[in-house]
Amino acid sequence: MAVDASNALLCWYAVDKRRLPWRAEAGERPDPYRVWLSEIMLQQTTVAHARPYFETFLRRWPTVDALAAAPDGEVMAAWAGLGYYARARNLLACARTVAEQHGGRFPDEESALRLLPGIGAYTSAAIAAIAFGRRAVAVDANVERIVSRLFAVEEALPASRRRIEQLAEGLTPLKDAGDFTQAMMDLGQTVCTPRRPDCRRCPLTAHCAAFAEGDPGRYPVRAPKRARPRREGIAYWLEHEGKVLLVRRPKRGLLGGMLALPTGDAPAEAAWAEAGAVDHVFTHFALNMRLLCATTKARSEGMWWPVERIGEAGLPTLFAKLAERGAQWREAS
Ligand code: SF4
Repeated sequence: MAVDASNALLCWYAVDKRRLPWRAEAGERPDPYRVWLSEIMLQQTTVAHARPYFETFLRRWPTVDALAAAPDGEVMAAWAGLGYYARARNLLACARTVAEQHGGRFPDEESALRLLPGIGAYTSAAIAAIAFGRRAVAVDANVERIVSRLFAVEEALPASRRRIEQLAEGLTPLKDAGDFTQAMMDLGQTVCTPRRPDCRRCPLTAHCAAFAEGDPGRYPVRAPKRARPRREGIAYWLEHEGKVLLVRRPKRGLLGGMLALPTGDAPAEAAWAEAGAVDHVFTHFALNMRLLCATTKARSEGMWWPVERIGEAGLPTLFAKLAERGAQWREAS
């Protein structure tokens, strides 16, 4: 089954593959920098959302050496809106490691890639396969879903992960591992989707146990989820003569290294007014952040940003939403 299924998938991919800016066209050599950049951006992010960011990064920093030489603040601001900001910090750390320790060339072995900042098991395997044609087995949520359906894996995730990896390993062809990896991505994102797999368009129906059973949406079986904890916080919109106080968040921790509105203790004595709250969901918790607004006559030390150019500050999504509330408060007061 494994050889037939992977052949069927590769034939489908040869005809139906998506044209994406980080993919090499037929006959072109893949560019490891593009492959790496796209893989980092696509972690927890859809293709449609990541695509304009990828194009902007490539225009501004066309090589890993150019990215390595970029100031931290510019890269963090360009990343704003993609979320999961530890990825941006690791992106820079990785670019600098490749530039300084590998002469600007990514290592071509999965094990060496794994040692670079921000590159885990999936990403190292994906880069090794796609950029360098190595036979590596990259298992992400798409692959978990497809494999658990193909083999009707009854054991629940996450406990079934090892079994799924073994099954994925058996499916991976000796040649064309890069195309196979990308074909699995395309299949998982466009055909074998989480809720309603479009089995009529799938090249693997003849090999799929879940399809034969008649209810593929039942897979992957999952252990019941624990509720996400909820946290509360306060942010401050402090204005002075058309400028608002911003702070750079500490490098470590939530949204580390990003520009933001002050949080925690009030940045000044002022007549603070409530301006509503914003809900935002992070991976491990949900946050409800209240916004307090005030104007001040005394301008303290700090970064005072022109309110009408707040959109250029590169605020992460939570603080961009809070800044919208600050602007509404301003108009109303
Ligand atoms: Fe997924 Fe359906 Fe294809 Fe099976 S036949 S792999 S469930 S799309």
